[in-house]
Amino acid sequence: MQWLTMPLVPLVIVGGYFYPLLGLVIVGMIAVFMNIALFRGRYFCGWFCGLGGVFERILSKVSLNKPMLPLFTKKWFRWLMFGLMMSLLGSRLYMSGSDPELIGSTFRMMWIVSLGFATAFGLILKPRTWCTVCPMGTMQGLISKNTYLLRVDQGKCKECGICKKSCPIETDPGALKAEGQVPSLDCMRCSNCVVNCPTKALSFGSEQKSMKSMKSMSK
Ligand code: SF4
Ligand code: SF4
Repeated sequence: MQWLTMPLVPLVIVGGYFYPLLGLVIVGMIAVFMNIALFRGRYFCGWFCGLGGVFERILSKVSLNKPMLPLFTKKWFRWLMFGLMMSLLGSRLYMSGSDPELIGSTFRMMWIVSLGFATAFGLILKPRTWCTVCPMGTMQGLISKNTYLLRVDQGKCKECGICKKSCPIETDPGALKAEGQVPSLDCMRCSNCVVNCPTKALSFGSEQKSMKSMKSMSK
C-alpha cells in the first residue's frame, strides 16, 4: 500500500508548484484517515500514509538509524509540534480565504514543512521519527482513544524487548505489560511487533481494564 500512495508525495509537492489545486489531494487524504481512525486508530499511518512510505522505504536506505532521542517520547514535545503546525496551517488557511488554489498551496506547504523536518530527523535517527510527533498522526490518535488498541497479554509477555526493536517509532509494548495496552497515540497499528513477538503476546482489540486500574478499583 505504501508503494501505491508514495507517488502522491512528488505529485503534490512537484506537480503542485505548477498546479496548486493538487494540494487538495491532502484534504481528501485527511477525510479518509479521519474516517478510518474512528474504527482503526492510526491505521492509516501504519499502512497508507505516502509520507510514511517515503520515510520507511526510501529514507531508511540512507538513514544512520540511530535510536530516537528521549525528546520524541515526551508528551509536551508532541503537543508543542502539534500547536506549531496547526497554528501555521490555521493562519495560512485564514489568509487563503475561499480561494481553492491558495488552499491547495497551503496544504502543499504543510507537506513540504513536514518532509523537511522528517528528513532532518530521519537521516540521523530512525527513519520514521517524525511520525511520533506528526500532527496528522496526533489527530488520528485523538479521535480514537479507545479504538483498536494494541493489547499486551500479561500472562504471555516475557518483556524481551523484541517488540520495541521492531517498532518504527520505538514504542515499547512490553514495557506497558502492567497497563495491558498501548495508548492510541503511540501506536500506528502496523503490526510489526505483533508478527515479531515470540510469545504471541500482542493483538489488537478494544480497550480493556488494566491490571493497574483493576487493583486501584478494588482498593
Ligand atoms: S516481543 Fe512480545 S514477549 Fe517480548 S516484550 Fe514485546 S510483547 Fe513481550
Ligand atoms: S507498537 Fe507495534 S503496531 Fe504499534 S507502531 Fe509499533 S510496531 Fe507498529
